[in-house]
Amino acid sequence: ILLYVEFQHHLKQAFCPQLIDVYQYFVQFSSEYLHLFHLFYRIIFHMKLEIPEYVSILMKELNKHGYECFVVGGAIRSILLNKPVNDYDLTTSALPEETKQVFHAYHTIDTGLKHGTVTVVSKHIPVEITTYRKDAEYKDHRHPDEVIFTRTIKEDCARRDFTINALCYCEETGILDFFNGKEDIEKKIVRCIGNPYQRFEEDALRILRAIRFASQLNFSIDDHTSKAILDTKETLSYVSIERIQEEMNKFFAGEGCVPLLYPYRKVFSVFLKEMDSVNWEQLIQRLQNSKQDYRIRFALVLSDPAFSDVKHTLKYMKYSNKEITAISQMIKYRNAPISTKTDILYLLKDMSCDFMQYLNYREAYDLTSYEQSFHIYQSIIQNNDCYSLKQLQINGKDMIALGYTGKDISLYLNQLLNAVIEEKTANNKEKLIAYLQTIN
Ligand code: ATP
Ligand code: MG
Repeated sequence: ILLYVEFQHHLKQAFCPQLIDVYQYFVQFSSEYLHLFHLFYRIIFHMKLEIPEYVSILMKELNKHGYECFVVGGAIRSILLNKPVNDYDLTTSALPEETKQVFHAYHTIDTGLKHGTVTVVSKHIPVEITTYRKDAEYKDHRHPDEVIFTRTIKEDCARRDFTINALCYCEETGILDFFNGKEDIEKKIVRCIGNPYQRFEEDALRILRAIRFASQLNFSIDDHTSKAILDTKETLSYVSIERIQEEMNKFFAGEGCVPLLYPYRKVFSVFLKEMDSVNWEQLIQRLQNSKQDYRIRFALVLSDPAFSDVKHTLKYMKYSNKEITAISQMIKYRNAPISTKTDILYLLKDMSCDFMQYLNYREAYDLTSYEQSFHIYQSIIQNNDCYSLKQLQINGKDMIALGYTGKDISLYLNQLLNAVIEEKTANNKEKLIAYLQTIN
C-alpha cells in the first residue's frame, strides 16, 4: 500500500494523471501485473542513475528484508550536476538496530546510533546508513532536542536543509523530488525547505551552509532564503568555531566565492568583527585574481590592515598549527622581494610553507604575474640548489672537527649557507672549508 501511495504521488509529479488510472487498473490484478507496471514506469519515466555496486548491494539487502532505502543528499545533487560524487549517504526505513541486524555479516560501526546512523563497510568502503528522521524541537540554535525516527521518506526529506539536498533515489522509484530540488538545480538556486527563518532559527549552521553551497556550486541564493540569512545571522554565534571554520574553508575553496563575500559580509562579521572595516574594493580585486584555495584566499582576507593580529585570528578560528604557519607566513612575507634567484633562495631558507602557494598568493596580493619567479623556483628545485642547512655539504660534526664550539657552530654554518646562496662559494666541503678561512 505504501508503494502504491508513493507511486500515486510520483505519477502526479510526473504530470501524468492518466497513468494513475492505468496504475489503479493494474493494482486490481495480481502482483505480477504490478511488477510489469513498475518495469514500464521505470523505462518510460525514470532516469536510471549509476550507483556503484558497493552501494547498491546494501540497498538491495535492505529491500530484501522489507525496508526501503534511498541514496540521498549530496550524491544525487552531484550526479545531476555531472560532478564527481564525494560519498553516498543512504537513508532507510529500517531502525538502526534493524539495519545492524540486516548487516550482521558485515563489519558495522555505530557511528551515531542516537541519530540513527550506522556505518556499514561494503567492499572495504564505509557507507553511512541513517534511519528516516524528523527533527523535534531544537535547542541552542544547533542541536535538535531529540531525534524522532519515522517510516516515511518524505518526512526525512523535509528535515533536510535545502531543496537541492533533499533529492533521493532508488532503482524502483527513480528520483523522488518532494521539494522541487531538480528545478532548483536547473535554475542554480539554493533554497531552504520550508520557512527559511524557522530553518535558520532551528540550526544556525545552515546560514553558512547556504552560502558555502552557493559558492561551491556557483549558485545564487533564493531571495527569501537570502533575506532570512541576513535577518537571522546573529544566531551564528551559537555555532562552534570548528564548524564555522569547516564551512568557511569550503566557502573559500568554492568557484563562486568572490561575488558572495560583499553581500554577506555582515554574516562573516558575526564571527570575524574585523570584516566590518575591510577595504572591500581592494580585497575583492585580489580575491578575483586568486586561485581556488582556501588558504590563499583566507590569507588575502587576513592581509587587510583590519586584521592586526593574524596568528591570534587563526588560533581563534581553531586552525591546525600547520595551517597557521602556512597562512601566517604568506602574510608575513607579503612584501619580500622575489625577482632574483638569490631573493627566492633566501625566502626558501626562512619559509616552511608551500612556495608555489606563496607565489600564487603574491600574484593575487600584488595583482601581477610572477611567471619569472615561478621559473626560477622550478629550476632551483630541479637543480637541487642549496637553501637550507640540511643541503649544505658541511655539518655540525665537521665544524667540531675543525675546532668550532658552542654558538659559533651555528653562526658560521649560517654564514656559509648565506655565502652559498649568494654564490660566493660552491657547495662542496673543500670549498666551504676554504671559504671559512677567508671569513675568520
Ligand atoms: P558535501 O559534498 O559537502 O558532503 P552533502 O550534501 O553531502 O555535501 P553533508 O554535510 O555531507 O552535505 O550532509 C549530507 C546531507 O544531510 C545533506 O545533503 C542534507 O540533506 C543533510 N544535512 C546536512 N547537514 C544538515 C543540516 N545542518 N540541516 C539539515 N540537513 C542537513
Ligand atoms: Mg556528504
